[in-house]
Amino acid sequence: MDFEAFFATKLDALRDEGRYRVFAELERTAGAFPAARRHANGSIRDVTVWCSNDYLGMGQHPKVIAAMHEAIDRYGAGAGGTRNISGTNHYHVLLEQELADLHGKEAALLFTSGYVSNWTSLSTLGSHIPGCVIFSDASNHASMIEGIRHSKAERRIWKHNDVADLDRQLAEYGPDRPKIVAFESVYSMDGDIAPIADIVAVAEKHGAMTYLDEVHAVGMYGPRGGGIAEREGLMDRITLIEGTLGKAFGVVGGYITGSAALVDFIRSYASGFIFTTALPPHVAAGAVASIQHLKTSQVERAAHRDRVARVRQRLEGFGIPVMPNPSHIVPVMVGDAAKCKWISDLLLDEYGVYVQPINYPTVPKKSERLRITPTPLHTDADIEALAQALSKLWSRCALARQVA
Ligand SMILES: *Cc1c(COP(=O)(O)O)cnc(C)c1O
Repeated sequence: MDFEAFFATKLDALRDEGRYRVFAELERTAGAFPAARRHANGSIRDVTVWCSNDYLGMGQHPKVIAAMHEAIDRYGAGAGGTRNISGTNHYHVLLEQELADLHGKEAALLFTSGYVSNWTSLSTLGSHIPGCVIFSDASNHASMIEGIRHSKAERRIWKHNDVADLDRQLAEYGPDRPKIVAFESVYSMDGDIAPIADIVAVAEKHGAMTYLDEVHAVGMYGPRGGGIAEREGLMDRITLIEGTLGKAFGVVGGYITGSAALVDFIRSYASGFIFTTALPPHVAAGAVASIQHLKTSQVERAAHRDRVARVRQRLEGFGIPVMPNPSHIVPVMVGDAAKCKWISDLLLDEYGVYVQPINYPTVPKKSERLRITPTPLHTDADIEALAQALSKLWSRCALARQVA
């Protein structure tokens, strides 16, 4: 086989469909976020980042940076092994205690990313629990879908956020079939929020275990940043809560929390936990500082809500169509892959505004969008520049405006 020709043909297919991914090469500037420097064609330009998942700017918080510096100076760069073989650092243990406490659970377990935590936990549960059926929300993240697939357990997909459909599908199985209901709290592309109380009630009725991905909510919702389930007083009714340290907490890594036996089971059987080098200690130290700060400080969450409201208000003022939702994600609907990419390119090249286009297969065709994520650190001037730039490009593209 001509492997090189095969790879080139597959890449051309992506380019033809407008799905070929191009990365913006950035230098995030600590102390100046959301400002960054962008490298392109041999030159460097200042840009404002409008699509970061470092939702609260914790990736440059002085406490987080100081904790990471201190840990590097004390412990060096890497963990030096898997958790089992010499890699468990004091900070890993502290971080797991911090996370268990955050979600009101007995125990927590760290992974190298949120993706790995979902993939590994769902595949371990689904492959080890005899006769297990996993009920997966239709909009679940790729990491859950792949974990469920790998488990080889029977999989049922229920309509997105549709509790009646979930109830109907659960009822098709007898009480002795073990069931897992897997879903998210904040869905990251539409920014809608699951009806967690209703989902939990239906799951309880059928004796199902609940698996909740709070990746886009931890740090941001609830009085201590425990997520939507904390805000709604539902944490104790969810069997397993999964989250990331890479978004609002500003570092990297993933985790699960649950009962001591559940977490110990996954710790003891999950290949994706056992056979990989532990997170560097300084990453764990940074995460501890970030979580501890957000457990008590409301400043970031309040400023975040204020900035999100202002972005929505300014965009709507210009008639830019923004999908309504109850979360911090502002999806600006373009509905055309080529125009979406074009607007994103011009925002970057002409206005120094960086928003990545979101196209198929991340979202359905005809719902292509710019996914804007305001942070507490975006100023009124940043917001004005974004709204003005989008308005000009809306006219150049002859896109329809929305009348308020
Ligand atoms: C980003 C994301 C993940 C993966 O988390 P990482 O820490 O980035 O690997 C998991 N679930 C959802 C819903 C996500 O959006």
